[in-house]
Amino acid sequence: MITPSLGRFLTSASQRCGFSPDDTDATTCFEPATWHICWSTEIDTGLACPKHMPIAQSFAYLDRHEVGSDCDMPGASWDFDGKRCIVAGTEQAATRHAEQPLPSALGGAS
Ligand SMILES: [Zn+2]
Ligand SMILES: [Zn+2]
Repeated sequence: MITPSLGRFLTSASQRCGFSPDDTDATTCFEPATWHICWSTEIDTGLACPKHMPIAQSFAYLDRHEVGSDCDMPGASWDFDGKRCIVAGTEQAATRHAEQPLPSALGGAS
């Protein structure tokens, strides 16, 4: 199992970079994130600022997209096709790919 230091799961919806060399709040970057990274099929996600995205790219990840308004929000699902995150119930406000069903595996994550 790959456990990159960047991938610590933060539930605060702060959209701040989660790079944390010692995995403690004292060493976490907390710069505004520009990239949202999906590490695994369990939708284990992380956030990265421009400075730390190159470090994240040294690890294996499934997908990434630029941080949007729904990224890291409670209940948000990863939309691989749309390259964004969707919070359930708001997808009708989004664009053309919204009608595509998300993998049912996402249901147990929240
Ligand atoms: Zn950072
Ligand atoms: Zn996202």
